[in-house]
Amino acid sequence: MLFKILTKDGFEQLVDGILESNEVIGPKRVATGANGKPIHQYLPVTSFGELDLDYETTEFPAKTYFLPYRETLSTFHFDEADWTQEIRYRIQPRAIVGLHACDINGLLKLDKVFGRDAFPSPYYLSRRRNTLVVGIDHMPCEGGFCQSVDAHVVSHGFDLFLTDLGDRYFVSIGSDRGFDLVGKVENREVSEDDTHAYLAVRRRISDAFKTHVRTQNLPTLLDLEFDSPVWKRWGDKCLSCGSCAMACPTCYCYGVNEEVSMDFTVGTKVKQLHSCNLVDFAMVAGDHNFRPSRESRLKYRYYHQHRGFAEAYDEPKCVGCNRCGRVCLAGINPPEVIADLHEEDRA
Ligand code: SF4
Ligand code: SF4
Repeated sequence: MLFKILTKDGFEQLVDGILESNEVIGPKRVATGANGKPIHQYLPVTSFGELDLDYETTEFPAKTYFLPYRETLSTFHFDEADWTQEIRYRIQPRAIVGLHACDINGLLKLDKVFGRDAFPSPYYLSRRRNTLVVGIDHMPCEGGFCQSVDAHVVSHGFDLFLTDLGDRYFVSIGSDRGFDLVGKVENREVSEDDTHAYLAVRRRISDAFKTHVRTQNLPTLLDLEFDSPVWKRWGDKCLSCGSCAMACPTCYCYGVNEEVSMDFTVGTKVKQLHSCNLVDFAMVAGDHNFRPSRESRLKYRYYHQHRGFAEAYDEPKCVGCNRCGRVCLAGINPPEVIADLHEEDRA
């Protein structure tokens, strides 16, 4: 990894350069919440001034720019004698500026599933490869426990990653694209003072985490507590609304529907993100539902996050952003559910 120092003005010029030839997405302040805190979303911006890089978190993750909630995989056109199939991948250049470490770690997990597994998705890969990622360090968000799942730091998966040193940025360069961009604006080498200042900021961030989740040996604990009353306790509260999966940067389960026009001339294959908490998630032909209860569906979600994914990829799927906890109207959140499991283990 290469490191450089940029002034604040230098970074603004860098973003202006990106804006010239890319669609740019970034954190924008959109409203004020009932608690008086600003609400941010990742939205398209047309100038540097629209970005609010000093944001705590966003309601929804940036995953929708890689995995849209709904996308047409292919369109079929039928005529009397023949048919044609049309498939489109996104190739327009895009940049996401201001992603936090946990969200970049979320993308790295999606890369494993959609980029490197047995069946890589060309739809996902076309978006990922055509998206420049500029990340930024930040103080822990309320309820965030990314440190507990090792997602508060990131060493790859981005083009540039900034750490704010007050009057300048310490820039980690993660790709050739990032290196070229830094080279277009005034920059300088990292001095010993810069390195000390960077490490001090990193320590301050690490020391500021207030929410901790005991994740050590969690897959085994989940195996042991498969029949725990904890699942019924929390499952009974669940409204089966599916919001947690929509807000999660790493939930990717989906369904595919084929639709045909009334005159049978056009057909479409449409992919739509799903949620394992929805009533029909495990419904199969013959009306059999493998997970008919709220408790079984909520349990499945936690097992996929912390048990199944860990078995497949040696790491949990959860990056500790606590968006699912914030969005849940029933107050279901990973720190409390997992703490309850540990309690149950001690009982
Ligand atoms: S856990 Fe919360 S957000 Fe998720 S489906 Fe249940 S009620 Fe909805
Ligand atoms: S499960 Fe919850 S805390 Fe974990 S990554 Fe998803 S939204 Fe964030």
